[in-house]
Amino acid sequence: HQPVVIITGASSGVGLYGAKALINRGWHVVMACRNLTKAGNAARSLGFPEGSYSIKHLDLGSLETVRRFVGEFRASGRSLQALVCNAAIYMPLIKEPLWSPEGYELTMTTNHLGHFLLANLLLEDLQQSPALDKRLVILGTVTHNPDEPGGKVYPRPDLGNLEGFEAGFQKPICMVNGKEFEPVRAYKESKVCNVLTAKELHRRYHESTGITFTSFYPGCVADTPLFRNHYPLFQKLFPLFQKYITKGYVSQALAGERLAMVVADPQFKQSGAYWSWGNRQKEGREAFDQRVSPQARDQERAERMWTYSAQLVGL
Ligand code: NDP
Repeated sequence: HQPVVIITGASSGVGLYGAKALINRGWHVVMACRNLTKAGNAARSLGFPEGSYSIKHLDLGSLETVRRFVGEFRASGRSLQALVCNAAIYMPLIKEPLWSPEGYELTMTTNHLGHFLLANLLLEDLQQSPALDKRLVILGTVTHNPDEPGGKVYPRPDLGNLEGFEAGFQKPICMVNGKEFEPVRAYKESKVCNVLTAKELHRRYHESTGITFTSFYPGCVADTPLFRNHYPLFQKLFPLFQKYITKGYVSQALAGERLAMVVADPQFKQSGAYWSWGNRQKEGREAFDQRVSPQARDQERAERMWTYSAQLVGL
């Protein structure tokens, strides 16, 4: 039978090219996207064959639509073999937070809370699938980790003691640690939560379900539309800087190939791993299970993050 994968944010960048790479390997891709027209155009522009993909509405910035998406997926009758939590927003220039309908800061909602809810709900569907090799993959990034060269740039993520989450994370509280709004930190902290979620999913559910839970860093995919909300000059120079100075640059096609490897290849069936190909790209370099940041490997923090996130999304 044909394996089925849901990829969030498959209308662009890493998710779109990951969809392409998995379709090439014979998978059916459910593109879980907030803009159906854009997703359809993206699929056609890359020549996805009819029947190799379907498009379903998912807006991770609204928890109600996450629940609706899961209902619609179940109604489709497909059996789920893999889930890729890929969608994200990065809004480095905004001065004031944006809010989800629930009154939560939008970057954390889209990148972490929406995916946290989605992953928890779809766990049941993965469990029900008769497939032997089932995976749940969450996109991480080097910027979650100040121990790595790519993560040293300020502002650095700081979940603190999760005071903001503990207090209910309701407007005007907008940061996990309850401090003042900083949009770049909001992004990086949402990615710390992504890595913590993958680790905690592994700890809680790998043994009992056999599902492989991982996260990964695809490399610096410096020319995806993730940077569309940055200064135009940054958008021009950042890919050049990554290509010629740091040598961290990875094309969207290669990042998509890496996504497909983590979802489908036997050597990536190692639950709890955080896969990386390093900061400086080298031809033929193999992926390795990279040590995550101190915050992202802190067990006690992971458990509290889990408890508060579950409360915030109504689980
Ligand atoms: P893109 O901006 O190209 O793609 C992001 C995708 O997320 C788009 O499809 C976008 O939809 C979707 N999305 C945004 N908000 C929502 C929402 N509320 N509901 C549903 N979908 C949404 O970014 P990338 O491909 O670069 O990023 C993909 C992942 O890779 C992210 O998790 C990012 O953190 C990670 N990553 C990226 C790196 C990079 O260098 N680019 C490096 C390391 C990790 P739409 O098309 O409608 O905007």
